[in-house]
Amino acid sequence: ADQSQIRNFSIIAHIDHGKSTLADRILELTQTVDPRLMRAQLLDSMELERERGITIKSQAVRVYFTSRRDGETYQFHLIDTPGHVDFTYEVSRSLAACEGALLVVDASQGVEAQTLANTYLAVDAGLELIPCLNKIDLPGAEPERVAAEVAELLGEPADAIKRISGKTGEGVLEVLEELVEKVPPPEGDPDAAPRAVIFDSEFDQYRGVVAYIRVVDGTFRKGEAIRAMATGTEADIDDIGYFTPAMTSADHLTVGEVGYVITGIKDVTKLRVGDTITTKRAGAEEALPGYRDVQPVVFCGMFPIEADDYGDLRDALEKLTLNDAALHWEPETSDALGFGFRCGFLGLLHMDIVRERLEREYDLNLMCTMPSVGFEVSLTNGEELHVYNPSDMPEPARIKEIREPYVKATIITPKEYVGTIMELCQDKRGEHDGMTYLSADRVQMMYDLPLSEIVMDFFDQLKSRTRGYASLDYEVTGMKASNLVRLDVLLAGDVVDALSMLVHKDKAYGVGRTLTEKLREKIPRQQYDVPIQAAIGSHIVARETVKAFRKDVTAKCYGGDISRKRKLLEKQKEGKRRMKQVGRVEVPQEAFLAVLELG
Ligand code: GDP
Ligand code: MG
Repeated sequence: ADQSQIRNFSIIAHIDHGKSTLADRILELTQTVDPRLMRAQLLDSMELERERGITIKSQAVRVYFTSRRDGETYQFHLIDTPGHVDFTYEVSRSLAACEGALLVVDASQGVEAQTLANTYLAVDAGLELIPCLNKIDLPGAEPERVAAEVAELLGEPADAIKRISGKTGEGVLEVLEELVEKVPPPEGDPDAAPRAVIFDSEFDQYRGVVAYIRVVDGTFRKGEAIRAMATGTEADIDDIGYFTPAMTSADHLTVGEVGYVITGIKDVTKLRVGDTITTKRAGAEEALPGYRDVQPVVFCGMFPIEADDYGDLRDALEKLTLNDAALHWEPETSDALGFGFRCGFLGLLHMDIVRERLEREYDLNLMCTMPSVGFEVSLTNGEELHVYNPSDMPEPARIKEIREPYVKATIITPKEYVGTIMELCQDKRGEHDGMTYLSADRVQMMYDLPLSEIVMDFFDQLKSRTRGYASLDYEVTGMKASNLVRLDVLLAGDVVDALSMLVHKDKAYGVGRTLTEKLREKIPRQQYDVPIQAAIGSHIVARETVKAFRKDVTAKCYGGDISRKRKLLEKQKEGKRRMKQVGRVEVPQEAFLAVLELG
């Protein structure tokens, strides 16, 4: 298309405010998708996305829109983005491919934590923001109140904010007209040496790396040789095109356009997200600004239940990493759980999704240890360590200082919950860092908090204390020294390395007590009594006992009722799949996650 008729925008919002549904309406209104193939949240194509009703990966679609105002046909590239805090980095990369952003705010909820976070990202990226109030069809919608909040946030008049329903389609055409009018066309130079930024990528088993690109200058053509500027990789373009949302081949992509490139390269490290591609002949000299590398902040051990599956787990992790640069892993050995991997994630949702994909798509049975953050440790001998596994923490006598990651947390809540949230934050070692009113009864609170407290159960507590009304966003800001100690758990007298954790010294006794209680509930009765102890060094801080069971479960199946007995045995077997023999004790998966329920 003519450069002046291209509009590139992302749809951004807090989770569940209706981004993917709005994208559906846009696909419909522009006749991009055959009505017979239309279904809700069409762009959420991954099985897990559909099941959970969330967007995990950004999708970039080309649609054509004919403006009623000037009769011209415009080429839009629309990027639907995830809303969850774990995937903020996905959003920021998508924004780098755009000139505008549709900011969607649920008119029955208002400005939430990720509304703010995503707005700031878009403003930082210099994008034109088009705010709209969504879900105005809902009886509980309060467009006036929410418009005032959005107006305050953006410093724009409230009556200019569009009111729409992604469900009924009301107001959506108007928004498309706004996009044409307000979002500037891409600026690049059509005659300059070609440059495109790789803003995302996907690995296709048959076709290799599919790089999602935004062309900034010039034109890329099918068959042409390209060079990735950071890695120096050279390859020919086998296929080039755009998403409708299916991959649709074209003979070129030109300045301002968003689409994909396939070169047959199978190694994702050779065509990296953030790199600039140019043509091999008469290529550009200077690369485009790249992205900050994304670092995992939450870690856990993943172990196959069957030791034989170790190789399969490694293969599966390798494959997942091809589509997910944020996933990190390295081999780990545990006395309790055997050979596995220590994996790093962007947060608990990311961790959960990876685990579920490993189990479903790769048919693995896994045992996962409790999530933990990464620590920096200064030893008395002057050495510096990074510790990603609590059981690797050196003896206290060797430690000079332990530092843990801190976040800046933003909480948005109706004002009646301010008191209970302050209590919660204090209990979680938070430091108050200001508070502002978004409107008469909604408040934005800022706290500095240790990430480890957030990883534990902060979010669940926040939700339950506020009946689901508060929202949370956070950003890791740096490391801070803390008085932490290693709490070990002993089962039947032996330390189970996979259950060790780091806790603040003042909380160690309380945590030890609750942890042993939880473990007693989770560990099934065995042939003999199993003592559970929590210890700091050699000092026992709490103790519980799982009493031996009295009779075999199958004893209940009197009278040779074969099918019932078989069912019971099957059930037992099913349960065992999630059990791991640790020394003399069978430990179920839930036990390793008990820490998440400590409260
Ligand atoms: P996303 O997380 O921002 O992508 O939100 P989704 O598009 O997945 O929508 C979240 C939920 O809100 C779904 O149950 C949608 O059906 C519903 N929803 C989205 N837009 C509207 C709307 O305009 N009106 C109503 N009533 N519900 C909507
Ligand atoms: Mg979505």
